[in-house]
Amino acid sequence: MQLPKNVQKIITTLEAAGHEAFIVGGCVRDIIRGVTPKDWDIATSAVPSEAKALFPRSVDTGIKHGTITVLFGNEHYEVTTYRIDGEYLDNRRPQAVIFTTKIEEDLSRRDFTVNAIAYNPNRGFVDPFDGQGDIKCDIIKCVGDPKSRFGEDALRMLRAIRFAAVLGFKINESALSAIGALKENMRDISAERIREELCKLLNGAYPKAAKLLQTTGLMYYVLRNREYGGDLDKVITQLSSTENIRLALFFSWAQDCEEILRDLRFDNKTIKTVSQYVKFLPQEIPLCRYEIKKILRIMPPQNFEELLQLKEINSPSPIHKKLRAEAHDILQKNECYTLRDLAINGDDLAAAGHPKGKAMGEKLEALLNAVMRDPALNTKEQLLCL
Ligand code: ATP
Ligand code: MG
Repeated sequence: MQLPKNVQKIITTLEAAGHEAFIVGGCVRDIIRGVTPKDWDIATSAVPSEAKALFPRSVDTGIKHGTITVLFGNEHYEVTTYRIDGEYLDNRRPQAVIFTTKIEEDLSRRDFTVNAIAYNPNRGFVDPFDGQGDIKCDIIKCVGDPKSRFGEDALRMLRAIRFAAVLGFKINESALSAIGALKENMRDISAERIREELCKLLNGAYPKAAKLLQTTGLMYYVLRNREYGGDLDKVITQLSSTENIRLALFFSWAQDCEEILRDLRFDNKTIKTVSQYVKFLPQEIPLCRYEIKKILRIMPPQNFEELLQLKEINSPSPIHKKLRAEAHDILQKNECYTLRDLAINGDDLAAAGHPKGKAMGEKLEALLNAVMRDPALNTKEQLLCL
């Protein structure tokens, strides 16, 4: 197996200094599945200060937890000291992180057997829990007893379903029933961690796994104490395309979509975009340039395009193609649909004797409306006469 040059360099540098180093976790799992890893994580017996001293450029990403990020040009690699987790007291975080010099101990704190494999070109695989066997059988299985592993960190329950959605694997029976038993512990998990896993889940190639959120009862806690109000069976068949489209489909039933997204600590841009999509999803957009401009006023053109894609997925119709063509033409012709593009502004109106204040705002709004209906009106002379 050929590792990327930089990864190989990190491993040999650590080894030459008398330490051990392996690639671990997702990248090993992906290589075994024949998928190109998106990032490479390295585990080492070197403590962070030793690792740092060996690489000219590094960042202390999570030094308390043993992680530094090694930089080569634009590429970056996480190098983490072998560790075992201290006692878990709150269903989410270990009390303390303890460094160790045994790779097997580091692997045993990991969540699933498929994520608990290490590889090094000289030493081959270290796979104490037969993760390779489970990858062959497409199985997500906890490292150790599911109840105690989910009891340590409740997020792992959602991660199990996320990996099922990303990898297309089945979760084994004992893990599934442990999720059913411990789902309430998800209350202790931060919204940010839940959001991250939920997004990965919804963007997985096997969204059918989302059904497990319902069958295990985890959904209620993922939605921060809400029942899912949509037709998940239908939604699952629709989940495709971009992340925002998937989110809008998943939350299409939610009158309070904005509030849910806020509770899950999505960023403001995503909250605004997705809740606009959810609002427009059931509304028919008339094939009328004025109506299209009204929407273009409140969302960027690429979002209008995405909204049409979403509407097409939700209920296919030739009108979406026509709406797209009209929008394209409006943009191509640079037709005005914002106050900024109006041929006059407040100063022009003031110079022509209009009083400032609320009335002026209303006047500009009225002129913009007229121009949105008739683009030919967008000249200073004509607008001053209206
Ligand atoms: P992806 O390709 O989606 O990033 P990944 O397996 O790399 O998948 P990460 O969330 O990046 O997933 O985690 C990296 C590795 O760290 C995992 O493979 C697993 O070994 C370990 N890990 C991550 N989160 C946990 C957790 N909550 N409990 C135990 N081990 C974890
Ligand atoms: Mg990863």
